[in-house]
Amino acid sequence: MKKSVLITPGDGIGPEVTREAVKVLNACARLAGLTLSLEEAPIGGAAIEAAGNPLPPEVLNKALAADAVLLGAVGGPRWDKLPMVQRPEKGLLAIREGLGLFANLRPAKIYGDMAGASTLKPEVVDGADLMVVRELTGGIYFGQPRGITEKDGRREGFNTMRYNETEIERIARVGFQTAMRRHKRLVSVDKANVLEVSALWREVVTAMAPEFPEVTLEHMYVDNAAMQIIRAPKRIDTLVTGNLFGDILSDAAAMITGSIGMLPSASLGEGRGLYEPVHGSAPDIAGLDLANPLATILSVGMMFRYSFDLPAEDDRINRAVSAVLAKHRTEDIMASGKTPVGCARMGDLVVEALERG
Ligand code: NAD
Repeated sequence: MKKSVLITPGDGIGPEVTREAVKVLNACARLAGLTLSLEEAPIGGAAIEAAGNPLPPEVLNKALAADAVLLGAVGGPRWDKLPMVQRPEKGLLAIREGLGLFANLRPAKIYGDMAGASTLKPEVVDGADLMVVRELTGGIYFGQPRGITEKDGRREGFNTMRYNETEIERIARVGFQTAMRRHKRLVSVDKANVLEVSALWREVVTAMAPEFPEVTLEHMYVDNAAMQIIRAPKRIDTLVTGNLFGDILSDAAAMITGSIGMLPSASLGEGRGLYEPVHGSAPDIAGLDLANPLATILSVGMMFRYSFDLPAEDDRINRAVSAVLAKHRTEDIMASGKTPVGCARMGDLVVEALERG
């Protein structure tokens, strides 16, 4: 099998963490007998410096031609004074839009003996492994009409939450398929007791369930879902929801793990995926070999599972990361009894663990 990957390191710690993730990508491809063709291109601030545009058209074309994109992070104080439309972060929004990415997948998982890093009790989170599938291009963030008007001498702000059947079906399908690749349990989150848009959501998701007879489907109101994530995260395997609810729940779920340096993500469209750590460009530690590369490395694992359909390689990367964490930690996740390592060493250790099996 042959796959092409576009690497867009971006700014700040982006290039450092991406470099380590590419080591893991190459090592894992070797072990899987996968032939990789890799190309690198600038995005964000790096692209502003190189081409005066946070996403030059030729970079988007390369992304469209690739099977998957690995992105580091964008942004930094150097570009903070630019008008909003010229900022590095615009490059990120433009590539997501250009690739038609409508589904965002964010796992929240406790690796190895990391339960102590959570703000929740270790016995509540130990073994937690849940996935939030969030709709990314619709819902209240994009719905029309929207605006601020004046009514009876007072200003009034308003937004519209809309989903049509096609949009709901498309994201629900990703939810069911993701559950199929995991433990076959899907929670669909809505507010069907109050919102018509949620009533339609629930109806459409329910109607799709017979297509996936192996998946156990449960519906949950968003307020209850927020409680369950904090109270009993192990209850949840895969969760699918709209843009607004997903924005909030994915951050809540992520924080049960306790560290921003450990959170990978995937954004999927029709046939293409973008993989990136959840964290930003961390300009405060850029270039100091202090960044934790594991979020980007785990994003490579997601690439094997969701873009290359090689879930065993994702499992292999997850096992290697857990094995390394038993002894070694970057500064952000340091714990007593562990050996401190920098970004580059952490990448090398994961490769060594992969090769040991
Ligand atoms: P941030 O995620 O970059 O950093 C927040 C804190 O977490 C910092 O203290 C940082 O040192 C630490 N941190 C982040 N990633 C880490 C890692 N891998 N290892 C160790 N520590 C890590 O968020 P911020 O400070 O709000 O934003 C900094 C810049 O990043 C801004 O320009 C912002 O716009 C941009 N940003 C980009 C993305 C993205 O590219 N997806 C996301 C969020 C923020």
